Amino acid sequence: MKALLSIDYTNDFVDEKGALTAGGPAQEIENNIVRLTREMAEKGEYVVFTIDAHDPNEKYHPEKDLFPLHNVKGTWGRELFGSLKETYEDIKDKETVYWIDKRHYSAFSGTDLDIRLRERKIEEIWLTGVVTDICVLHTAIDAYNLGYSIVVVESCVASFNELGHKWALDHFKNTLGAKIVQDV
Ligand code: ZN
Repeated sequence: MKALLSIDYTNDFVDEKGALTAGGPAQEIENNIVRLTREMAEKGEYVVFTIDAHDPNEKYHPEKDLFPLHNVKGTWGRELFGSLKETYEDIKDKETVYWIDKRHYSAFSGTDLDIRLRERKIEEIWLTGVVTDICVLHTAIDAYNLGYSIVVVESCVASFNELGHKWALDHFKNTLGAKIVQDV
């Protein structure tokens, strides 16, 4: 059994006006993400949206001195970008589609993701979204430590840091034993 994780593909991380945008490279993967997400959902695979959720006045959050405030609950910045928003609206009522508000880079940190995956006997997770060398990377590392098989869809991940993006793809493959697929 496999699951698709859709990580942080929101306006703040993708849109030109986003607070912490990966810009062009992130916008370019929109169609790929939408196509794969729809396809997996239609096949009845488990699709989990794991989305950063910050409070408007973060006093204690470790990211507060590292990044501009982003993905604030209830704001435009935290809405899914482009046609992924519509896609989510279309599939959200399926029993196989799930939404997780996360507070850290990793989709596993402080969430019930691992429990949800194990209930469904899911052993392989497919990673999509942004950014490759932060939230996707930290999620992949946790997945590795928890014993999941990892597939990273290269055409569905992006970063504002080209060097970091390439480094992370190499790390997924050579250190976490992930399978990198180009397209689907
Ligand atoms: Zn954040």
